[in-house]
Amino acid sequence: MNSADSESLARRLLAAGYVEDSLDRADVAILNTCVIRQASEDRVYSKLHELREWKTPERTIAVTGCLVGKEGDGLRGRFPHLDAVVPIGDYEPFIASLESRYDYSQGESLPHAGRTGVSHYVRVIQGCDHNCTFCIVPRVRGREKHVPIDMVVAECRAAVADGAKEIVLLGQNVDDYHDPDGRGGLAALVREVERIPGVKRLRFMTSHPQDLEVELLEVMAASGVVCRELQLPIQSGDDTVLKRMARGYQTRHYRAIIERARMLMPDLGLVTDVIVGFPGESEQAYLNTRALVDELEFDVVHIAMYSPRPGTFAATRMADDVPHEEKLRRLNDLLALSREIAARKTSRWVGRDVEVLVEGRDELQRPFGRIRQGKRAIVLRGGDVQAGDVIDIRVMQATAGQLLGLQIPTNSEPAA
Ligand code: SF4
Repeated sequence: MNSADSESLARRLLAAGYVEDSLDRADVAILNTCVIRQASEDRVYSKLHELREWKTPERTIAVTGCLVGKEGDGLRGRFPHLDAVVPIGDYEPFIASLESRYDYSQGESLPHAGRTGVSHYVRVIQGCDHNCTFCIVPRVRGREKHVPIDMVVAECRAAVADGAKEIVLLGQNVDDYHDPDGRGGLAALVREVERIPGVKRLRFMTSHPQDLEVELLEVMAASGVVCRELQLPIQSGDDTVLKRMARGYQTRHYRAIIERARMLMPDLGLVTDVIVGFPGESEQAYLNTRALVDELEFDVVHIAMYSPRPGTFAATRMADDVPHEEKLRRLNDLLALSREIAARKTSRWVGRDVEVLVEGRDELQRPFGRIRQGKRAIVLRGGDVQAGDVIDIRVMQATAGQLLGLQIPTNSEPAA
């Protein structure tokens, strides 16, 4: 979501004639911030302290993103060298103030397509109507606002014309999407976007177990464009903890979704988020989470140690009663398990032929990209392959994090 916001602001600035440059040559520094965890917020403060040295009367420092939703103009009192506090998505007054200060109308403008790259992120919902007790998002991003289908489609068409090959539909809870004019939910939107000529891949994130509909799974299974990957946070594998988190589902419901999804798409890529050390998480509750992670065999588990976010229900009403060392032990234990599972699952791809959307080249100049199930893949000896190409490879090797394969020539066997 933050990447999409950065891209949207960058596009607007590029269109106004600004160019991206290194900090030592720049006139303006903009921090797009995240406050989902205390560590993210602390990084912003430390960067703002560092920028004190950089700041001169001719230079501008601005902050946007979730920290603005949380702290607002109070930030300027705390950091007097900060020039602008820019609310998420409300960039025009800030850009107008820059334009009155710096004249870049004759500046060198970067090509639009360079920013878009292979993937284009489209925000289809802003904010969230859920109230998970640990989460600060509803407070900093507000209640849901849904973008009409026609506007999303228009943005996707423009991005494809600019060179994008993959569209990623974004929402804090993307499954809750509905067209404000009653033209349907996420499944309807996905059907519209996949029909746009030139869209080679379509993904969406993040899903919510309470809102994900079977119709969407059926659309994914039937499509040659929609990726077979679900980003479906479970947060805990223990029903009492899920209840205290106010997630609105139980583990049996989550299991049923995965069962249905895998029935429709046996090779589905599955990514989840887990919080360890949530208030009241007993050893048994943690073991229940561990058992569920083991049982469901996720491809990727993003694991976070619980940290209270001021202003959330959990921070104000629940004791942060799992000691830090214990949270760390659970985090490391779950990390080790999830890596073992990821390695096992990735090895199952060896010998199979997969389709890769090439995104660029790695530090060894090998083309890399993703398969439709979300795994990163590297093309060995892929001399002529370009970013944006969709190619077939035969997987020769696998590590926990990636697949390595040889391109399959259109007529048959992989090049030796
Ligand atoms: S659904 Fe996601 S964004 Fe919304 S409150 Fe819950 S965790 Fe936060």
